[in-house]
Amino acid sequence: MRAAFKGTDKSPEDSRKRIELLKMSQAVNLLGSWELDLKTNKLFWTDAMFQIRATPVSGDNLVSWEENEHFIHVEDREMVKQQFESLFRKEDVNFEYRIVTADGKTKLVAAWATLFRDENGEPLFLRGTSQDITRQREAENKLRELNVAFEYAEEIANMGNWQFRVKANEFFISGNLYKLLGYEPGDFEPSFDKLLDIIHADDREKMKAYLAKCSHGDCSDAVEYRVSRKSGEERVIRSKCKVLQAFNDTLILGTMQDVTDEVEVRRKLEEKSSFAQMLIENSVDHIAAYDTDCRIIAWNRKCEQRYHVKKEDAIGKHVFEVYDKFHPEEFADLQKALKGEHVYKPAQLSNSADGLYEYFMIPLKDPNGKVFGVLSILHDLSAIKRSTDKLNELNQSLELKNKELERSNDEMASFSYVASHDLQEPLRKIQTFAKLIHEKDFDVLSERGKDYFQRMEAASARMQVLIDDLLTFSRTNTLPKEFKTVDLNQVLDNVKKEIKDTIEEKNAVINATHLPEANIVAFQFKQLLENLLLNSIKYAKEDVAPVINITADKVKGKDVEGLVPEKEYIRISVADNGIGFHQEYAEKIFELFQRLHSKHEYPGTGLGLAICRKIVHNHKGIIRAEGKEGVGSTFTVYIPA
Ligand code: ADP
Repeated sequence: MRAAFKGTDKSPEDSRKRIELLKMSQAVNLLGSWELDLKTNKLFWTDAMFQIRATPVSGDNLVSWEENEHFIHVEDREMVKQQFESLFRKEDVNFEYRIVTADGKTKLVAAWATLFRDENGEPLFLRGTSQDITRQREAENKLRELNVAFEYAEEIANMGNWQFRVKANEFFISGNLYKLLGYEPGDFEPSFDKLLDIIHADDREKMKAYLAKCSHGDCSDAVEYRVSRKSGEERVIRSKCKVLQAFNDTLILGTMQDVTDEVEVRRKLEEKSSFAQMLIENSVDHIAAYDTDCRIIAWNRKCEQRYHVKKEDAIGKHVFEVYDKFHPEEFADLQKALKGEHVYKPAQLSNSADGLYEYFMIPLKDPNGKVFGVLSILHDLSAIKRSTDKLNELNQSLELKNKELERSNDEMASFSYVASHDLQEPLRKIQTFAKLIHEKDFDVLSERGKDYFQRMEAASARMQVLIDDLLTFSRTNTLPKEFKTVDLNQVLDNVKKEIKDTIEEKNAVINATHLPEANIVAFQFKQLLENLLLNSIKYAKEDVAPVINITADKVKGKDVEGLVPEKEYIRISVADNGIGFHQEYAEKIFELFQRLHSKHEYPGTGLGLAICRKIVHNHKGIIRAEGKEGVGSTFTVYIPA
């Protein structure tokens, strides 16, 4: 009994319409139905069954079991047979199998079948449907593949996503989002509250405000917030959300991307660039930068002050808009720098005539060496110029004063020379007459007269010494100085010969290391050594024979204060074991007529060391004294080597 379409009380026309509509729907859905009469073993197919198999519909829609089996994929025939057999044990079956269509294509079919029995329970017929699900399965497979790829993509991008269906109150979290938060997929029940719970308490409001903005349709921005991973570790997440209406619900989609490393790099970069910015801002130089269109891209505080243009007004402007007097030469230099040349323009009176400036134009290059701008540094030298001018002025007046001093020194020297020279004559006369009185009339003098006379003789003798010393002093300046390379041992020998009597009289011992040769004025150097040795003998301790040690070596100017640092010097030291002096007089004793002892204790004029210093100065050197009372003195002479 065929039971595919049972008769109804509708008209035949109605029935025809219904059948046509059913056919159409079956064709569209690739869904066919069939019936197998178990008594006659006849198999009825609707049109769609034929269409799915790409075979023409047979006249009476009947097909044999063999014809039917012919379309089943050989590998699935046994399985299909078993499914049908199982129908006799259960109510219906659902299964999938492959068919091969008449034009040779393999298709996947979803089958449903059920068994109808008569009132006695005897099997009457089988009915079922068969739907071509090839495309649907392909689409499902594609979707599955896409899902897998999507999961991978999320992993690679360090991203996860979530979805929230508001009405349905369904929350979904992608596997990678769990992982991103340090969990295994499914570790917790996804919910909106849980998501907020993971967000750092201080950032929750930010996220809520962002979502509120999104729900009003503004989803353009992203939001960054901190989250705590399962381990408690804090990470920074960047989220973008979208609110849309779909599936009869409000759908909120959200992505979460771990940007901790990026944020850290950004923080460091900001730190660095704000440091660089600070350096530029606080620079004493005028620092500006231009892009390749000569537009200003950096402008520091100094520039603001000099050009009276605020940074915000300068940035983006063409140089001509900002520098009303941008010199053509400077513009040419900017062009050169834009071509990659480092430009340095030494100081010149600037065109605005308000100071002295030098400038640098340095090309700014990207990592590929392409110039993307120029850094301009204008260095103000006006202050240096002012102090140099002042220094020059001072130098000039100093030079004038020096000349004046030299002149008055010369005058003084020639005066003392003339004076002492001229004094010699009357003194010699006094001494001659005194000698005559001494030889002829001394005895006739009263005792008092004799005493006065002797004192007069002593005074004239002292005067003689003073005049001699004064002459020597003035001669150190006036006599021509001839520098020669001389062996200092030779000079010392000559001195020793000269003062031989004094040395012997005082039992003085003079030790000297080997002395070098030096470029000196020999007679002056002899005078110098003689003065120092005679002083060491004169200022010896009572009852202690003078021991004088003379040493010489070389020193670098930079190691001794007062010398020219770049030069090398010969150092000659004369050290004695005499009475010494207090160190506070170390400078004073070189001045004219300065004496630390009275003429009754130690005779002298106070000129000896002044002569020494003059001689050393003539040699472009210096002399220093070191003394310790009761221990001895050391006089050290430095002259250029
Ligand atoms: P003077 O004719 O008095 O010796 P100088 O100019 O040679 O004049 O010396 C100045 C002073 O320096 C001396 O009066 C003395 O007090 C001190 N003086 C010089 N040489 C020595 C020395 N070797 N030891 C101690 N004092 C010295």
